[in-house]
Amino acid sequence: MSDDATYSAPGLKVVSLGSHLRGVVAERNFKHGEIIAIWRGSIITEREAVALSESERSQLLQVDEDKFLVTHQALVNADFINHSCDPNCGFTDSTTLVAMRDINAGETITFDYAMSDTKSIFAFDCWCGSSKCRKKMNGSDWQIADLQERYAGWFAPHVAQLIKRAKH
Ligand SMILES: [Zn+2]
Repeated sequence: MSDDATYSAPGLKVVSLGSHLRGVVAERNFKHGEIIAIWRGSIITEREAVALSESERSQLLQVDEDKFLVTHQALVNADFINHSCDPNCGFTDSTTLVAMRDINAGETITFDYAMSDTKSIFAFDCWCGSSKCRKKMNGSDWQIADLQERYAGWFAPHVAQLIKRAKH
């Protein structure tokens, strides 16, 4: 493992979710607050992000207003963690994902992309199947009051700042 590789917690398994989709399932119990992933890579701008292919773009993590983390290394388990509108993970800093609550073995590991994404290039139709599903994930979803309440303390710092500014 190189020094700057993405970290995936032991006990995560990539599973197939149909023809070309994959997701990540917990193979063991995770405790509330336990680190699930620490993403590493290179930083690119929005202009550079927009120029990527759709599959490359799906691997991006927005870490600031105009900064996006992209990896050029082989994908690891953490790179297959999907969005859910009712997730079990959140951020403690711009690249660290932790369990928002205790997670049981067998549960799918997810976070809400609204916790990190604020750009329309990340819009997609959601099929997460949760009762809270918004059907469409959009870069402006961080503005939804219900999400701000449910994810208080779990947004990536740049999104937490936007929420704070919007309230004042
Ligand atoms: Zn959904």
